[in-house]
Amino acid sequence: TEQIHAALCVPLVSRDELIGVLCLCSDRAGFFSQEGLRLIDSAAATMGLAIANALLLKETRRLFLAEQEKRELAEALEEAAAFVSSNLNLNQVLDRILKQVARVVDGDTFNIMLVKERFVQIARWRGYESLQVNENLPVREIPLDKYPNLLKMMQQAAPMVIADTLADPTWVPNQEYEWRRSYVGAPIAVGEQTIGFLNVNSRQPNKFEAEDAHRLKIFADHIATAIENARLYQAQREYAEHLETRVEERAAELHAQYARLQAVLRSTADGIIVSTTEGALVECNPVADTWLNHSLSPEDARKFRQAICDLSARAAEHPESILELQGLDLQLNAAPIMEPAGNAHIVIAAHDVSHLKAFERIQSQFVSDVSHELRTPVTTAKLYTELLRCSPIEKYPAYLDALEQELNHQAKLIEDILDFSRIDAGRLMLNPQLTNLGDLVEPLLSSHMLLAQHNKVALTYDLASVSPTVLGDPDKLKRVFINLIVNAIQYTPEGGQVHVTTGTARAAERQWATFKIQDAGMGISEKELPQIFNRFFRGVQPRQKQIEGTGLGLAIAKEIVDLHGGWIDVQSKVGLGSTFTVWLPLANT
Ligand code: ADP
Repeated sequence: TEQIHAALCVPLVSRDELIGVLCLCSDRAGFFSQEGLRLIDSAAATMGLAIANALLLKETRRLFLAEQEKRELAEALEEAAAFVSSNLNLNQVLDRILKQVARVVDGDTFNIMLVKERFVQIARWRGYESLQVNENLPVREIPLDKYPNLLKMMQQAAPMVIADTLADPTWVPNQEYEWRRSYVGAPIAVGEQTIGFLNVNSRQPNKFEAEDAHRLKIFADHIATAIENARLYQAQREYAEHLETRVEERAAELHAQYARLQAVLRSTADGIIVSTTEGALVECNPVADTWLNHSLSPEDARKFRQAICDLSARAAEHPESILELQGLDLQLNAAPIMEPAGNAHIVIAAHDVSHLKAFERIQSQFVSDVSHELRTPVTTAKLYTELLRCSPIEKYPAYLDALEQELNHQAKLIEDILDFSRIDAGRLMLNPQLTNLGDLVEPLLSSHMLLAQHNKVALTYDLASVSPTVLGDPDKLKRVFINLIVNAIQYTPEGGQVHVTTGTARAAERQWATFKIQDAGMGISEKELPQIFNRFFRGVQPRQKQIEGTGLGLAIAKEIVDLHGGWIDVQSKVGLGSTFTVWLPLANT
């Protein structure tokens, strides 16, 4: 300053404000003139204006950048939010959020860690490629308690900035991440619980500010929402899958149940009908359908439908009724079906009781037959005793013979009835012996020659030369053969023929002993054929022709043969004759 001998100073004013002083100095005294002062003053005025403009420009630029940054942040957040709400693929959402974070936070690497019990694990990451960081690194599990910074963020539920990792005592250095010099992170929280962290690292120290931490926190909240969405979605999907499986299982169960029900309905011999309370048919099983739509006459089908209507109307009383149709007697029972939807349906079971009815008829027929059969010999016996009383002695033998015959018939009838009661009570005992069929049959045929001659029927036979042996009760078997021989003779008209053969034949994969009796008699109608082995059954023709009989012979014969493990079969044509074959198991001789 010692060298300064002259100075010229003018104020620098910008927009009426003193912003500085412009000083010119010279080592020569009297260097500055008034003219110079004026020049400099006007130059200072221009400078003041230029400075004012420059300041304005700087401010404008600062405002512009701040605005741009805000817009960028807003856009990034908006995009992240939109993606969170539109996408349920969690990894995609997290990657997209990291991308948006990278737009607004100036770091080198970005990652999202998720908490798993006492560990954290990097789930998604971004920016590591450029650093050539070991690729396997992110999946490693990191124990939480070794990282005080993470624990702190967790406890405080607040983001954190570490300006210089080397200078921060809480920072846990990691060999593979030594390049990290500054850090900003934010906890990801769902409610009170921290479920992860959003982390950004930089190679440079002092890279992040509180503003960055604030931004990360907002993104962390989006991540929490995305994770929560994904969890809810997963739970919902699992529930839907569970429901679907339950529905499938239930459907399969119902299907199986329905199939079982159908099988039962199809296989039952009863007719099952489901109707409305008004009696309209809703469903019929095949048996009921056959009755209603095929086998019954239109008149009987109409009666059946009417009965269904009547029973449906009073189903609550569980009514029962018997419907007598042509050749079919049905016992009907109705009951309401309780349905949860409040619909009322009725189920009607139709049980075929024709056989019971037939049995009742046969029984009453039997009572009248037996009474008649018992009364006739009694009346005759009485008549002969009367005659004996007033007849000469030479007539006695003839009357006594007749008397004996009647008594024999009565005894046979009583014996047959007793046999049945023994069979029913399981007391008919067999006394099995090795029995030669030919030896058993031949005397029976001889003893019935007289009856055959009396009826003018030719009784012939052809017995096996090597006669089969059976293990059987000879007395019981005799009853079988006598029944068949007597039937054949008495149901064959005069001049007819009865032929008997014995032998062996194959059936059901084994050899059997057979007794076959063939007649050229009246034959049996197709309708009567299935009934001839029923107790007390007598054909129409034998009754019309007043051929003596009880209707018990074949039934007894069948029971005896069954007890021997054999069976009787019959073929017959009306007017042509019948063939009865008795099949008996061969004895193991
Ligand atoms: P019954 O001879 O006393 O009437 P069965 O039980 O021996 O009783 O026979 C039952 C019915 O079978 C007979 O009433 C008859 O209608 C029929 N039947 C049996 N054997 C013959 C036959 N050989 N030919 C024609 N009908 C027969």
